[in-house]
Amino acid sequence: MRLILFLGALLGHVYCRETFVGDQVLEIIPRNEEQIKNLVELEAEEHLQLDFWKSPTTPGQATHVRVPWGSLQAVKVFLESQDIAYSIMIQDVQVLLDKENEEMLFNQRRERSGVFNFGAYHSLEEISQEMDHIIAENPDLVSKVKIGYSFENRPMHVLKFSTGGDKPAIWLDAGIHAREWVTQATALWTANKLASDYGNDPFIISILDKMDIFLLPVTNPDGYVFSQTKNRMWRKTRSRVPGSYCVGVDPNRNWDAGFGGPGASDNPCSDSYHGPSANSEAEVKSISDFIKAHGNFKAFITLHSYSQLLMFPYGYKCTKLNDFDELDQVAQKAANSVATLHGTNYKVGPICSVIYQASGGSIDWAYDFGIKYSFAFELRDTGRYGFLLPANQILPTAEETWLGLKTIMEYVRDHPY
Ligand SMILES: [Zn+2]
Repeated sequence: MRLILFLGALLGHVYCRETFVGDQVLEIIPRNEEQIKNLVELEAEEHLQLDFWKSPTTPGQATHVRVPWGSLQAVKVFLESQDIAYSIMIQDVQVLLDKENEEMLFNQRRERSGVFNFGAYHSLEEISQEMDHIIAENPDLVSKVKIGYSFENRPMHVLKFSTGGDKPAIWLDAGIHAREWVTQATALWTANKLASDYGNDPFIISILDKMDIFLLPVTNPDGYVFSQTKNRMWRKTRSRVPGSYCVGVDPNRNWDAGFGGPGASDNPCSDSYHGPSANSEAEVKSISDFIKAHGNFKAFITLHSYSQLLMFPYGYKCTKLNDFDELDQVAQKAANSVATLHGTNYKVGPICSVIYQASGGSIDWAYDFGIKYSFAFELRDTGRYGFLLPANQILPTAEETWLGLKTIMEYVRDHPY
């Protein structure tokens, strides 16, 4: 009996996945500064356990927040009492999660035939296997570089696309925030695109003739695994901070660029906790060490979701950078390319003006390090599904994103510095 109870507890612990039954995602549109202040206060109420998908910024701009079932009534009463307009964006989060999970299981069965489906979400292990498969199919073009290990000791593998020699390079990463699943999927699709179309796509031939491309599809492997096995809403790393029961650091507040400034939290329980010090996260340190050691990166591009934005520095300060006009022009051109395929509209600008001041971000670090062409994409959508973008949107997202990436890479190729 005791053994059964023990095993039950053990299995429960191992397999227990957090559920979100009855949780709703609300879209809230604050009308004025007063209402924004109210929302910021709401955000600070830890007992409500609100999960802000999109924080309050300026009047008229939507805020998205996942409200646990148990806090729904309190939050709605509060919003109504303050006369703050809101609507229900996702009626029941768990319904979307169940569907997503079913589709993943269905796809796993389907892939037993041996054909990888780029239009599905995958486990870390499946992604690693597919990376190895891409390398095996294109050994003269693609190789794997291990740049370090995550906090939980998972290897961080970057795919290197190179036609030989050490060329100036382009960096592309995805999934620094664990729950932004469409980014890891888009990166993997992009890896396959580069490998399989090399040889018949004049653009890919020309870019790899002049440059190397380094692509890291899963920047935060611990967080990604956790988001698949324990908590779909996980965003941070899985590192432990001494003296706190809360786990993880926001790896995109952990770079050595305005570290600890506005738009990052010093509360280890916050989803935007910047960590004990810059580069405290093994994942961040591995990348910045690698980029410094390489010394010849000309572009740094990172994929996030969601919101449909194409941003450039700065985030940690709101001053206009010297290269503003050029980066703005490139980003605008890239956003136009994205829109040509499915009409997906992107907003363009520096992080600080497009979202809000946010310190310790990767593209600010890259830019300050001397990598002029530093950009951050926020992929689909604008909130209908948010982080829970259905798998049937992976391919259209990847295809349109490719057009934006291509525009940026073409520009970088033609404007050496
Ligand atoms: Zn993100």
